[in-house]
This record gives sequence, structure tokens and C-alpha cells, in this order.
Amino acid sequence: LTSPTKTKTALACPGLYHIPQMGDGGLCRVRLEQGRLTPTQLHQLACFAQTYGNGTIELTSRANIQLRGIAPDRAQSLVLALEKAGLAPKMPAGDGVRNIMVNPTAGFDKQGDDRIIILAQELSECLQTNPRYQTLSPKFSIFLDGGESCAFINHIHDIWLSLYEGGRSFAFGLASRPPLVDEIGKPIPVILGKVPFWGAKRLIFTFIELLLASRDKNEKIERMKHWLAYQDPAMIFGALEQKLPFVKREKDFRRPRPKLDAHLGCHRAKQDGHFYLGIQSPLGVLTPEMAHFIADSAAFVEHLCLTPWQGIIFPNIPLAQAENLKILLKKVGFITDGNQALARIVCCAGAPGCRSAKSDVRMDALKLAERLEDKNFPFLHLTGCVKSCASNEARAITFVATAPGLYDIFMADGATAESFGRLLARSVTIKQAADRLSNF
Ligand code: SF4
Repeated sequence: LTSPTKTKTALACPGLYHIPQMGDGGLCRVRLEQGRLTPTQLHQLACFAQTYGNGTIELTSRANIQLRGIAPDRAQSLVLALEKAGLAPKMPAGDGVRNIMVNPTAGFDKQGDDRIIILAQELSECLQTNPRYQTLSPKFSIFLDGGESCAFINHIHDIWLSLYEGGRSFAFGLASRPPLVDEIGKPIPVILGKVPFWGAKRLIFTFIELLLASRDKNEKIERMKHWLAYQDPAMIFGALEQKLPFVKREKDFRRPRPKLDAHLGCHRAKQDGHFYLGIQSPLGVLTPEMAHFIADSAAFVEHLCLTPWQGIIFPNIPLAQAENLKILLKKVGFITDGNQALARIVCCAGAPGCRSAKSDVRMDALKLAERLEDKNFPFLHLTGCVKSCASNEARAITFVATAPGLYDIFMADGATAESFGRLLARSVTIKQAADRLSNF
């Protein structure tokens, strides 16, 4: 199975039509439109994981799903099953460009704007069905931030737009993320401008056209960060202003800080008398049984929303139902509160699934969480190698595996957004790390 998309990056990136072999078999990434799927689709994915793979279902930090351990002779049948379940792109060549992220509560968040979902759907359809746009890197991502209080702002996106001025305008930036109101002194994103809501689609497609025109001249320019490395941002903005006179410069935009732990537990939704419930699966992994359990518990909702915290939100339910569900799901091992240790730990797949991993990161993360339960410690990221697949921005503390069970530990210092920060300790065991963090 080979993706019809073209770039070298496309061939390296897992998808529906490209299932690369990893340490534990084939890896199939199912990109979900706006991170949403129906309870029936979750049941189907649980069955597919068991029938075609090794049973491991991963929730990714981009609100997608991955099935692992796919046997090469079953890949074709898996793809047909996914297509039948309504989880395929509009066209096979459009699979890699289904990378438009919205906040997980978009459409029902008390602070959000309902128009974001429609905008995301329209953009996604255009990207998937336009042959030129289909050639974008499958890592190319767009973030539409509707100002929701449940928002994941840490990811770096090729293009981001953040709604403000009472929903009239979007602030936007390239190869960065929306700056937050209390991030005084941090470098502001390159190219910060504003566009009326009605001009957002034209802005995005103009940026993409300009990027692709640059790529035509230099094939190394696949992403906005590459383009910015070659082109003076002032010239990019000038070219943009000529094409779109309604775009203005905006240096002062700062987004309100999202509500802490709004992705976990019960929260009031936009619609009167309705709430939503957010949960996480430990380290973003579901077994088929866990997936069936969630799908059964969600039989009364239209769809579930995956979160970039590798969790799931049940939208628009009455409070009593949300609270009962929370108790039930906590009892069977899901994370429902921000004060649980696993709510503050993120990690990549690690060994044996990933051949680059120096350690079984998930096992180590579970041991660490056990030792840190009930302790006050900062947000942790464990990574099997420096590639840092689980987080593209430095977290408060990062563990980088150096050998089985051994890690170098870094602390983010703000000044080095591209690195993990300041080295705190070399080659420490999980026990040594836990002792150190307990006294943090
Ligand atoms: S960060 Fe490294 S070890 Fe972890 S999944 Fe990515 S490539 Fe593999």
C-alpha cells in the first residue's frame, strides 16, 4: 500500500494508505475530521484493532487514532474496512492533508464560536479534493482556535488563526502558536496579522499558494518554517497585503490563557443545562475492551471528541449523567481529574513499538506515575529519543531515554523553545527521578 501523495515526507508518514512497518508491525494512522468520531465508529475501530492488528489503539496528540501491529497481509483488508466505516478521506490522495485542528470543545464550549466547525469542514474538503493542495506535506497543519476555554495551545502549527474582537476577526501567525496574555517577554510569532472572519479561507489558501509557489522553485520548502528560513517575513506580509487588502498587521494580539484541566472532568457546556465530560486513557492507549466500554458508555451521544491530551470528551450531556459516567470511568481506570499523576505525564510509543526508542517509555512512565501519585510535580514528558514525537514544544520537565530504564532530564527554561531546556541530570533511573521530583 503506497500513498498516492508525492513528497518524501509523505512516504515517511503513516496514514490510511501508507502503513509503514514499525518494531511491532504496521502502523495505521486514522486522521479524524475535527477529532470526532461516532460511538459506532469507535466500536468498529476496536474490532479492527483486534482483527487486523495487535489490539493496541493509540490516541495521538493531534486528536487522531493509530492502530498498531498490522500484519502486512491484512493491511489491504483493514483499509477497506476503514473506508466502509466512513473513516477514509474524501479522496485517497487527500488523506495526508486532513490536518486541520480545532479545540476539542469547539461548537459546545461556553466561550467558543459555533462557526469554527463549519469553517474547518469547508477548509478540509477543499484541501482533500484539490490535486495541488494534496501535495502539501502530511505534517502541514492548520489550527483554528475559536477562543474556547478548553484549548490546547502548545502545538506549533504551520498556520494558526485565533478568533477575537467578539468573533469579528482572527489573529494569525505562521510556524508558531497563538501567544498568551501572560507570556510577557517571550518572542512573538513571526508574521502576526489580523483578518476578518469572512476572509479566513482566502487567507489560508493564499498562504498555501505562496508556499507551494516557493516549493516549486526549491523543493526543500515543504513547511512554513522552511519558507520563513528562506524568505524575509516582511516580504511575505507585503505579498499578502497586495493580494488581500483586507489583511492588517497586528502586533498586540494575546490570547486569554485556557482554563486549567478543562479537558478532564465535568464542565458546563454552551447549551443551557448541558455539560461535557472529559477523560484520558492512561498514556493515550486503549485496548479493544476499553474502546468498546467507552463506545457503550457514549451510546446516547452523537459523536465523541478526541483531545490533544490523548483523551476523549463526551459532549452535551445532563450534569447527573456526566457525574455518574465520571465515577464509572474512573473506577475502571480512566483519568478524570487533573490531580491524578497520569494526567500530568505524556510519552511517546517507545520500545518495542518504535525501533528508534532507547527504552520502553510507556512502562517507565507507568512506574514513574505510581511513585508520584499524590505528589505535587510539574508536567512531564518522557521520550524514547530526541525526536520528541509526543510533544513538539518543551514541557516543564522532559525525560530523554539514553538506555533501557535510564534518562537524561531537562527543565524548560523558556529561552530555548526548540530544545528541551537546561540539563538537570544525566542517566538517572526512574526511582532516582521520582525521588528528585517528589521534592520539586
Ligand atoms: S520520539 Fe523517538 S522513540 Fe519515541 S516514538 Fe518518536 S521516534 Fe520513536
